[in-house]
Amino acid sequence: LDEPDLGVLDPEDAGGAWPVPSAEDDKYSQGVLGVAAGSANFPGAAVLTAGGAVRAASGMVRYAGPAADAVRGSWPEVVATGSVGDAGRVQAWSVGPGIGTGSNGREVLARVLEEGRPVVADADAITLLARDAALWDARDPDAPLVLTPHDGEFARLAGEHPEDRVAAAREAARRYDVLLLLKGNSTVVAAPDGRVLVHPSGQAWPATAGSGDVLTGVLGKLLAAGVDPLWACGCAVLVHARAAEIAAAGGVERGGRAPRVGGAERDLAEPPV
Ligand code: AMP
Ligand code: MG
Repeated sequence: LDEPDLGVLDPEDAGGAWPVPSAEDDKYSQGVLGVAAGSANFPGAAVLTAGGAVRAASGMVRYAGPAADAVRGSWPEVVATGSVGDAGRVQAWSVGPGIGTGSNGREVLARVLEEGRPVVADADAITLLARDAALWDARDPDAPLVLTPHDGEFARLAGEHPEDRVAAAREAARRYDVLLLLKGNSTVVAAPDGRVLVHPSGQAWPATAGSGDVLTGVLGKLLAAGVDPLWACGCAVLVHARAAEIAAAGGVERGGRAPRVGGAERDLAEPPV
C-alpha cells in the first residue's frame, strides 16, 4: 500500500467527509438525482436505490420506472416522473439495480447515458454494458461514469476475476475511462487517471441483499451535488459502511432514521490522494 497514487480511506473520516449544507444551499445545490431502477419483478431494488438517495440528503429524488407505487409508498418525498426523458431537471443518475438485462433494461440504460449527466451504473446496468458494446456509444465522454461492480459483475465486464483488486480496478478504470468502484470486504475505487482509494472494511455487515442498491443511491446524491467523482465514491463507501456499523450496533431500528454520522477528527474536502 505504499504507492504515490494510492490513498487509504479512514473509517474515522466518514462524518467529516460528508458535504454539509450551508445557509446558502437549496434543494438544487444539494443535488437533484434521477433514479432509474427496479421493474415489475424487482420493485424492491427501486425502493432501496431511491431510499439510499433520500437518506443521503439529496435535494430531490426523481424516480423513472415501473415501480413508482412501491417507491412512493416508502418515500413520499420522491417525485415519480414516468420515463427517463420526462424527468426534467436532473443533475445525475443512479441506474441499474433491478432494471433487468432484457430489452426494457437496455432501453432505460441507453436513455440515461444519452442524458449526458454524471451516472452511477450498477448491477444490471453493468451486465448490459459488459454485453453490448453499442451501449458505450450512447455515452457522453465528458460526463463522469461510475461503475460499481462486485467481483462477479467485474468478471462479466473485464472477462476475468479480479485477483489483485487494486491492479484490476485501476486497469479497468483506464481501459473503459470510468470510475471503477470494486465492491467487497475491501472496496477499491479507481479513477481513469490512475488514482486509487482503498477502503479496508473492518466489518461485513453490508454483505446482505440490497445493500449495493443503497450504495448506488448514496453515491448518486454526491454526484448530483457536484462532488468530485473520485471523492464522491470515497465518501459514499465510507458513509455506507459506517451506516451499516451503526445499524448493527443497535443504533437504529430497521428502516428507522440513523443518528448523524459524526466524530471525525479531520475535515476532508477532497480525496487523500
Ligand atoms: P451488492 O453485492 O451489490 O449487494 O453490494 C454489497 C455491498 O456490501 C457492497 O457495498 C460491498 O462492498 C459490501 N460488502 C459485501 N461483502 C462484504 C464483506 N464481506 N464485508 C464488507 N462489506 C461487504
Ligand atoms: Mg448489487
